[in-house]
Amino acid sequence: MTPPAPRDRLRVAIQKSGRLGDPARELLASCGLTWRESRDKLFLYGESLPVDLLLVRDDDIPGLIADGVCDLGIVGRNVLVEHSLGREEEGRPSGLTEWRQLGWGTCRLDVAIDEGQEWTGPEQLAGLRIATSYPHTLTRWLRDHDVRAEPVVLNGSVEIAPRLGQADVVCDLVSTGGTLRANQLRPVTTILHSEAVIAGPDSTLDDGRQEIADLLMRRLDGAVQLKESRLLMLRAARETLTDLLPLLPAGHEPTVLQVDDRTEVSVQVLVHGSVSWAKLEQLKQAGAHNLMVLPVEGMLA
Ligand code: ATP
Ligand code: ZN
Repeated sequence: MTPPAPRDRLRVAIQKSGRLGDPARELLASCGLTWRESRDKLFLYGESLPVDLLLVRDDDIPGLIADGVCDLGIVGRNVLVEHSLGREEEGRPSGLTEWRQLGWGTCRLDVAIDEGQEWTGPEQLAGLRIATSYPHTLTRWLRDHDVRAEPVVLNGSVEIAPRLGQADVVCDLVSTGGTLRANQLRPVTTILHSEAVIAGPDSTLDDGRQEIADLLMRRLDGAVQLKESRLLMLRAARETLTDLLPLLPAGHEPTVLQVDDRTEVSVQVLVHGSVSWAKLEQLKQAGAHNLMVLPVEGMLA
């Protein structure tokens, strides 16, 4: 294969449609990226930054990065791990790694058995046919658990394989378990915890693309932090502060402002993650009132 031509623009692969496509695009847009669409809508030319998007099937993303066609990708860990193990099986290093974990698109790769059956442990799978779209990940897990079983590779409708007599049990992606239940299957063990990740090479990029990638990662970290930030505001009598302050959710140092008559204070604190009703009730019980939780639109320290 001829080496890829030098490039001074970053190319990011995301899923064209499906579960990860829209959130991936929204995440990149929240980093201030804008694009111009090609006529076929498969290539988005970056306008605000030299970051172009390639819209593809999620299964193609690791290969596109490994081959140098794209620099980064947003893909499920399940797809990345399967690809990397496949390459290693062929004796080639995958050369890919997770640059960031994104915390959404979460699911599990689970082994599921007939719902009427008891589960005694991995050794129960010995000699069975296991339908899966993730043969490399499954094979590694079987090897780690010293179990000899036979993966049956299917590219879709894995969950109906036992009913069709193609397999005895399945190893499939699960988020709520609804699809498995509808097929009289019960998840019994997890072989991989997955979420959407930024996949990229395990070495630095060439041609100045690393600099663009660094800038993108900085913006992305900021955008993620912003999305997870809330401003919690409350009023309270000054004498309740010693009880209240230790109860505040983890976050930045709170700002305490005096209100008119010196007996009241207003407290503001930037917190990470959402603030539960239980937490608000706890604060109220300790003397707080006028509690308010606000989203944060922008932040510059
Ligand atoms: P494509 O046409 O791009 O190949 P697909 O059908 O393989 O699409 P989706 O069903 O959109 O892909 O799933 C994409 C990713 O979403 C999965 O690889 C996985 O990381 C994640 N995901 C989250 N929850 C689930 C779930 N319940 N079932 C399947 N995938 C899930
Ligand atoms: Zn796919």
